[in-house]
Amino acid sequence: MKYLFSHWKKLSLKIKDFRRVFLFLDYDGTLTPIVSRPEDARLSTSVKKIIKELNSYPGLSIAIISGRSLKDTKKLVSIRGLVYAGNHGLEIEQGNRKIKRSIEPSSRPLLENIQSSLEDKLKGIKGVIVEDKGLTLSVHFRMARLEHRARIRSIFKKILKPHITSQRLKVTSGKMVLEVRPAVEWHKGMAVLAILGRGKALPIYIGDDVTDTDAFRALKGKGVSIFVGKPEKSIKADYYLKDTKETELFLKQMLDLLCLT
Ligand SMILES: [Mg+2]
Repeated sequence: MKYLFSHWKKLSLKIKDFRRVFLFLDYDGTLTPIVSRPEDARLSTSVKKIIKELNSYPGLSIAIISGRSLKDTKKLVSIRGLVYAGNHGLEIEQGNRKIKRSIEPSSRPLLENIQSSLEDKLKGIKGVIVEDKGLTLSVHFRMARLEHRARIRSIFKKILKPHITSQRLKVTSGKMVLEVRPAVEWHKGMAVLAILGRGKALPIYIGDDVTDTDAFRALKGKGVSIFVGKPEKSIKADYYLKDTKETELFLKQMLDLLCLT
């Protein structure tokens, strides 16, 4: 992975070469720093302003693609005219087009059952939040004590195991979060390709977590992938940015580039 700002010149020429650009932005850890309580991750006024300005360019489209529910993502970003993808793309809103990945109708009551079991078994452990995101569930444990984390994982595993074996659900993990999803073949990478469609735009994807690597993979040879965080060998993106401050700087440079062309 290359440090983006050391290769900005080359990348900017590539971006200029394309008449259209489709910018895909993850939310938590990419646009806003990771916080203890998910509801506290607010978009800064400056980032919001840059995204709005970028979106006003006819040659540039922007999609926000998050593990949060669609409703939550839209509420937090609250900029009109963007494409929004929630639950890792299980639900997408692109203009008037709404795509909801069809899942087995019985998934919902099953998720509700699992939610109550998780809440019941985890209620003795301080700092755990079980979040209902409609199509998926999240167990956040950033605020839990270090020595309780192994227990949280083992309770989670025990409750989910039979449903994974029966292939009705699957689990994924991110930064201090465990997730339960319906067992459909779908991830951020497939969502990105669905949003992109057949247009000739250059896709640029920025994300900070394991779930974003599906998108990095999907764009290999087709677009530009940017990881936010400490570069690790296991993460295969074209470039990296050190933190969310640098994401803002990159977006600002994109804006300057568009102003010049
Ligand atoms: Mg993220």
